[in-house]
Amino acid sequence: MKGTGTGALPPMLEQYVRMRDEVAAQLPHAILLFQVGDFYETFGEDAERAARLLGIALTHKSSRDFSTPMAGVPLRALDQNVERLLAAGVCVAVADQVEEPGSGLVERKVTHLLTPGTVTEERHLSADENYLAAVATGDGYALALLDVSTGEFRCAAFHTRSALYDELARCRAREVLLAPEMSGNAALKADFQTRFPVMLSPANFDEAVGRAELRAVLNEVPGSLNSAALVRACGAVLGYARLTQQGRLEMVRRVVRFEPGAHMRLSDAAVRALELFVPQSPQGVTLMDVLCQTRTAGGKRRLRAWLRAPLLDELSIRARLGGVEALTRAPDLRAGVRSLLYRAHDLERLAARVATRRATPREVAALARTLDLLPEVVALLAAQDGLLGTVRARLGGLPEVVTRIRAALVDDPPIRAGDGGLIRDGFHEELDALRRDALGHREWLAHLELSERERTGIGSLKVGYNNVFGYYLEVTGAHLGKVPTDYRQIATLKDRARFTRPDLREREREIARLEAAAGRLELEVFTELRDSLAAHAEALGEAAGALSDLDVLAGLAELATEHGWVRPVTRPGGEDARLTQARHPVVEGATGGRYVPNDAELGRGRHVLLLTGPNMAGKSTYLRTVAICALLHQIGSFVPAAGAELPIYDAVHTRIGASDDLAGGRSTFMVEMSELAGILHGATARSLVILDEVGRGTSTLDGLAIAQAALEHLHATGAHTLFATHYFELTRLEGDHPGLVNLHVAAEEDEGQGLTFYHQVVPGAARQSYGVEVARLAGLPAPVTARAGRLLGALNTQGDDAQMRRDLAALDLGRLTPLEALELLHRWQRGLLGGE
Ligand code: ADP
Repeated sequence: MKGTGTGALPPMLEQYVRMRDEVAAQLPHAILLFQVGDFYETFGEDAERAARLLGIALTHKSSRDFSTPMAGVPLRALDQNVERLLAAGVCVAVADQVEEPGSGLVERKVTHLLTPGTVTEERHLSADENYLAAVATGDGYALALLDVSTGEFRCAAFHTRSALYDELARCRAREVLLAPEMSGNAALKADFQTRFPVMLSPANFDEAVGRAELRAVLNEVPGSLNSAALVRACGAVLGYARLTQQGRLEMVRRVVRFEPGAHMRLSDAAVRALELFVPQSPQGVTLMDVLCQTRTAGGKRRLRAWLRAPLLDELSIRARLGGVEALTRAPDLRAGVRSLLYRAHDLERLAARVATRRATPREVAALARTLDLLPEVVALLAAQDGLLGTVRARLGGLPEVVTRIRAALVDDPPIRAGDGGLIRDGFHEELDALRRDALGHREWLAHLELSERERTGIGSLKVGYNNVFGYYLEVTGAHLGKVPTDYRQIATLKDRARFTRPDLREREREIARLEAAAGRLELEVFTELRDSLAAHAEALGEAAGALSDLDVLAGLAELATEHGWVRPVTRPGGEDARLTQARHPVVEGATGGRYVPNDAELGRGRHVLLLTGPNMAGKSTYLRTVAICALLHQIGSFVPAAGAELPIYDAVHTRIGASDDLAGGRSTFMVEMSELAGILHGATARSLVILDEVGRGTSTLDGLAIAQAALEHLHATGAHTLFATHYFELTRLEGDHPGLVNLHVAAEEDEGQGLTFYHQVVPGAARQSYGVEVARLAGLPAPVTARAGRLLGALNTQGDDAQMRRDLAALDLGRLTPLEALELLHRWQRGLLGGE
């Protein structure tokens, strides 16, 4: 606290400083919002920060010999300001007054600690998942992920940092805890922060503490956590979450150790290049946008999880495809399921709120409304087997919960349990009796006006109520003479007077007593109900998961039906991929009816497809179409094609476009090469590799050399490779590399008309690059394009010369047969004549 003056701090500020220090010991940079009457105040440096971050006025709290900056927000504006602070990456502690203000210092308590990765209040959350992550190292890397809002708790071990980073990027954690061995390494921390601009918070990574945390929350240290790094990461996440949740972590019931290798490897670069979740241009559409036909928030989260982690297991893929297929074949079933889902609330989150005994009456009612739908869903799914049958089984078993809630709670309860009026009449005898008695008194009061008018003969007599006197009888001046003797005057106004009677006071006190007792009892009954629901947390979580699965399957079926997608045939051991009339779902949507579908065939005898064609012809779209179909197949979705047979790929690797990593300070070329390095190291015979314009970021010859070497390497791995390039020299590789096949995207250059794109992928190499032609289309001045055309001619000859010289130098004349020499001469001549 930066005060001026010599005096000691006023008592309230002393209390503030003490609480702020306590908070700071746990969350060093948090801002403490300190209730002072109708405002939440901050003081000192925090006031300056808050004023800046929230755009609120900075004032001063001053007394005779003391002054400090102060900034506050009204109580009712708490939520929006908390949200703003969280969005700015600042944690918030809220200290509330916990007693009625009297003459002395009001007692206050920190009631909430809010951090971006651990908020659970619906109003601070988007419907998406909200992960808190912890990373520790040891033998490799360990990652723990916790979504406090649903209780989902997972962990995994990684051999390499890049695999860890890929997973972290995929789960989009909102807050990360780094073990000291990482946060203490300045270079590593800086690298981390440029990759993941999220809040980094401190936590306890001690292994023994971690074990204790695990025991406290899960009652054990699960055997799957078989390394110190895993225990430390999981322990850190739990400890931090427990701190921010004030000990309430009942929604966390188990930790699932997942194998990163159990899913298709999908690099961060691939996720970005295929625009799964984030568009590359601000108005762009993502694959997720197109896929997301789900009806519930849980379904949307589940779909995203599927898309982040495509499957490798044949049976699981078939199971999902079977579920989607059944729903495409039964339009009535699909429509029925989807209309029921439309009415469902976020069951996963509600289940977590119930498990932690935090659910409000309104949330419990929403839970009942959602559970009420389940028997109908189960009935719709009665004839289904396979995955839909499993979903049905997981949805059963909760009807008594609904009955219990329905019996106890009114249909439309208030938000807060303390407001009363939430328990149904007839549910609790004692409560009913209290209410009946209170009602009796109220009715007596309601009749009092009439009966007193009769008794006194004063037709204008009124019964009124105010906060000072409670109930009173009011008589106008003209009738004061008729006032009976049992009235006691309590107030005199200009033209009338107010009276009370001893029995009136008594009734009033009795009503207040009965209603307070009823309120207390309601709260007790509600708390008991809510706690009894916590016992069903497991089944609730199960049902919530099943509902999300069903939502995704039904959404995918809807999509497939609407857009004419087909079920791909899974060829688990197969080497061949065959797509007929495949479309890129996002580009197709953007081009309206003008989309040109294309076939793709990869496999024996053609595992590397080399694609040439002018810019803007559709090369990149073609490449991505194949990758997206492969991905969709392995999440269990139909694919946008007329026919599809696909193997199960262990990875989809992509290197597409020139994405500058400006924030990371690396040049385009450097980024390109490090991504390429990752692909060349990682690709196997079971991978799908998509490379677009490799080598573009450097000089032509360097680029060509690198592109060719990379292509040859991939060719040797046996990976299914699609390689789009503007290096026409590469098309010559076809002859000497069995399995490498040239394709091009058809385009035509008409004299004077310019280029026509057909977007049709056809066999063979493109004739020329059309680069200059595209430049002309883009509006480059005619003299410039004309000069470029002439230069190109000269360069092409030089390029051929260079190629010939290299080939010549590499010849082993002693072993060359006359036939080979002739072939070589023929090839050179063909090259010089422009490939004719
Ligand atoms: P390239 O990679 O060859 O430069 P792109 O794949 O980026 O070309 O495609 C350029 C544009 O052409 C796309 O934005 C899209 O509008 C259109 N396009 C691409 N493929 C098709 C197609 N098959 N049918 C219709 N339009 C297409």
